[in-house]
Amino acid sequence: FKFASERAPPIPQRKRERTSLFLNALVPSAFAVLGVTGLIGNTPLLRINSLSDALGVEILGKAEFLNPGGSVKDRVALRMIDDAERLGLLRPYTGSRIFEGTVGSTGISIATIARARGYDATIIMPDDVAEEKVKVLQALGAEVERVRPASIVDKKQYVNIARQRAKNFGRLDSIDESNAINRPHLIPSSTDSVLVSTTSSHVQFEDDPKENEEFLTKPRGYFADQFENRSNFDAHFEGTGPELWRQANGRIHAFVSGAGTGGTIAGVGQYVKSMNENVVVALADPEGSGLFNKVKHGVMYDRKESEGTKRRHQVDTVVEGIGINRLTKNIELALPIIDDAFRITDAEAVAMSRYLVKHDGLFLGSSSACNLVACVKLVRRMGWSEGQTVATILCDSGNRHYSKFWNDDYLRKANIPVNPAIVEELLLPL
Ligand code: PMP
Repeated sequence: FKFASERAPPIPQRKRERTSLFLNALVPSAFAVLGVTGLIGNTPLLRINSLSDALGVEILGKAEFLNPGGSVKDRVALRMIDDAERLGLLRPYTGSRIFEGTVGSTGISIATIARARGYDATIIMPDDVAEEKVKVLQALGAEVERVRPASIVDKKQYVNIARQRAKNFGRLDSIDESNAINRPHLIPSSTDSVLVSTTSSHVQFEDDPKENEEFLTKPRGYFADQFENRSNFDAHFEGTGPELWRQANGRIHAFVSGAGTGGTIAGVGQYVKSMNENVVVALADPEGSGLFNKVKHGVMYDRKESEGTKRRHQVDTVVEGIGINRLTKNIELALPIIDDAFRITDAEAVAMSRYLVKHDGLFLGSSSACNLVACVKLVRRMGWSEGQTVATILCDSGNRHYSKFWNDDYLRKANIPVNPAIVEELLLPL
């Protein structure tokens, strides 16, 4: 109990002991979270001062960039791994490997939690995503495979490759048993932490023939599958959404979010609607994504074109992580509750990011900037000018985006203007 006693004025020994016992009884882990996964979630809700003051409407962002893996995806990765452990699909320190196809953030979150939980990770990603994400993944000890961008109907598309690798991994003949022996055997507890048992997996292995057999025949490669995995939705419906609602005291008039897998907008959107069906849920969609059309017109016009030209079903934009040209399970959960959609240009997202640094000292990634442009457009479209509150997600920070979104040379070559005045124009009084 050093932390408290260091700060407290000198007090008699007996009293100090009693104080600590009392506090410990009330809040057993008041001064420590149990490992890295304990740092995930419970992010602050941040008022964006410049935009709120200019609009007269409160613009609030969930500061997800403060998660230990640097993005909102920590929540999803943790939930997917927790659920897989509960279902018996993953066993810590048994050589299990998690596979995922991702443009980066989810990979970084999986790699982080994998290390904390006793797993290995293989991340498959298209070779045109920002280089710094690859470096982070490698530093976290993940195996990274970069593949040529391809359409989802192509077997070589990154998500399809991840699924295939997981399936092929850990066939009985390829299990390296030495890997599983003499490691502490960890048992997932009902909380975020893990309890360390004194027996090694090797001992349990011999002691319990049934478990032994199960252990050997269990799938040891786990495909996390964030696009289709329900745990993604649950992480937001049971985590992000309730947190946001509590922090805003139930006063939210609109929730704005982009969609990559769709988990965030589906989970948070459904939660806020369940609390108050009048909350407007709006989609922020970058250029080239088909979701805007899907919401507005019921079809993804871009789909045929992208298949015809063999372009990947990924979106051609400098904004990373949001926008998609196919329906995923998580997006299907979102579509019924999306009331409005905004198409955001690269120039607008870039302008917003520079504007926020200039006025708020806030250094955000591309999808956060996109979300905030959509917040401003929504306020204008609704004609709101006083007393309303719009909430969104600040998915990650700018330091994941140095090579593209935050690289003025790159943007100049791509003909994307860097001009914060674009935001000033959006903010002009009607
Ligand atoms: N922002 C970033 C930086 C992301 O990586 C993602 C996920 N791909 C999103 C936003 C979108 O979130 P979701 O997958 O829940 O739609």
